[in-house]
Amino acid sequence: MSFSSDAKAELIRLPLERDCCTITELAALTQTSGSLSMRGGGSFGISWQVENAALARRIFRMLKEPFGLTPQLVFVEHARLGGRRSCVLSIEGEDAVWLLTALRMMEPDETGRPVLRRTLPHPQIGKACCRRAYIRGAFLGAGAITSPEKGYHLEIVARDEGFCELLGKQMERSGLPVHRVVRRGLPVVYLKGAQEISDALALMEAPGAMMKLENIRITRQMRGQANRVANCDEHNSERQLAAAQAQVEAIELLAIHRGLYTLPPGLREIAELRLEHPDAALEELGALRDPPISKSGVNGRMRRLLAAAREVREELNAAGEDGARQPDRRTVTE
Ligand SMILES: [Zn+2]
Repeated sequence: MSFSSDAKAELIRLPLERDCCTITELAALTQTSGSLSMRGGGSFGISWQVENAALARRIFRMLKEPFGLTPQLVFVEHARLGGRRSCVLSIEGEDAVWLLTALRMMEPDETGRPVLRRTLPHPQIGKACCRRAYIRGAFLGAGAITSPEKGYHLEIVARDEGFCELLGKQMERSGLPVHRVVRRGLPVVYLKGAQEISDALALMEAPGAMMKLENIRITRQMRGQANRVANCDEHNSERQLAAAQAQVEAIELLAIHRGLYTLPPGLREIAELRLEHPDAALEELGALRDPPISKSGVNGRMRRLLAAAREVREELNAAGEDGARQPDRRTVTE
């Protein structure tokens, strides 16, 4: 299991303590994984489609335990997506009217008859308990964390601007310094840095994942120090480390704004090796590759990565502010 799925498994096991928080978590899950359907005769249905069966069970409990709603559950096979299976939960009829009202999508008209006002939930998040439930729901529905051995990055991909805006605001109110970017047409909020991600895990109530991250962070720091000590008799080790640090930053920038998957395989490989071994010398990186490549081979690829990152940085500067405009998806040639 990945670090990300371990953290989600821990969150999914959390008990449902207060109804206010259950509704806000459900609102975020609806904004990431839900859809509204209209039936004949003006009746509505609401459904959630998730791949994680444990998350489907949590949504089932969220509807059943506090509110007595019984969703229908069906499994959908995606024959073309390598046989992946997802669970679809749905609520219809009177239950749907009750839930759509609780999510503030329906409101009574002058005669007291509930009518649909919005196609997405509009949760009222006043209390700190609900704020963390909302962030947790968004992360469970559309979030991911990079394995801390490789780098510190947490992101949530929103389906629409309004949700991205509300989520970013809640995270900022909770003391998390969020960054925003548009990737493949979708707004993304993300956190960088071990401390920020550790804080987010604590906030969402995943102390196990937080401790694991802290342990990896300490090991990485110690390894970095040991490497620096081992390299200190080398003449220009300081300069090498500064160069390696600049390479890591450039690769992280590419990962955020373009995605490493857009790189040609040879460049992507070196980019990933650099993130996994932030202190290694270029010849060590070359030796880690299978089959090994020379220091000058690694150096050549690293230069192309730095040039691509420079291009992204210039596009961002031209756009005025971080994420105001999506950088062009120009391909890097090998
Ligand atoms: Zn609450």
